[in-house]
Amino acid sequence: MTRKLYWEEPYSKEFAAKVISIEGESVVLDQTLFYPRGGGVACDTGTLNASKVLETTKTDDNILHTLDTPGSLHVGDKVTGHVDWERRHRLMKMHTAGHLLSSLFYSRANCRITGNQIDVDRSRMDFNLESFDRSRIEGYVAEANDLIRKDATVKTYFLGREEALKLPDMVKLAEAAPPAEAQLRIVEIEGVDRQADGGLHVSHLTEIGQIQLLKLENKGKTNRRLYYDLVAKASTGAPDSALLISTKPPLEAEKEKMGRF
Ligand SMILES: [Zn+2]
Repeated sequence: MTRKLYWEEPYSKEFAAKVISIEGESVVLDQTLFYPRGGGVACDTGTLNASKVLETTKTDDNILHTLDTPGSLHVGDKVTGHVDWERRHRLMKMHTAGHLLSSLFYSRANCRITGNQIDVDRSRMDFNLESFDRSRIEGYVAEANDLIRKDATVKTYFLGREEALKLPDMVKLAEAAPPAEAQLRIVEIEGVDRQADGGLHVSHLTEIGQIQLLKLENKGKTNRRLYYDLVAKASTGAPDSALLISTKPPLEAEKEKMGRF
């Protein structure tokens, strides 16, 4: 089983490892910083020694690094890995932004995320919402940007499955995780959101910059699709895009709903 260095040090860019097996055209290491594709999140790329890592995927036990020069590495070889940091950091920001948006959709409209694609150029989120109300959805995005401006720490930790199941809002997430997992990895945006998740995230909301709503699509009776991108934070602190809409402070009742953790 590959040690997941990316969980331990998500901000590291370089690591040393040893090749423990070759599976087809992919290399398995004893430990890796390369985050594998999964759960709708794009993977890391970079280099292992002189080879390019084109793709990182996973099986039940292993993380597979697909190289541009298959056959160039052998079992026992020592390697130095470099993660394409620009890509990785952007994926971390996109992923945390997705959690922030999903928590607002959940707390404000009680809608569930039915699918997502976290990627470098833009990300996508599917959710079920009865009415297709653009201004309401734009309001949630603006609210997410307010929370980013206010900042919050994002932390990860493990909780025993039983313990996690006792938390009211964790039930749906815990149920979605494979029953064999005794420990659930939790990603928590302090005071805002807590989810069982294996992904990589920024440590502070302000790193995200600002969320830009790109497109909204109607995908049937209750299915909606939202595309978003990230833009750097405006230096003045003022919204730098016509798409960013200012919102009034949440109503008291809504504030209470927000305090679900
Ligand atoms: Zn996630």
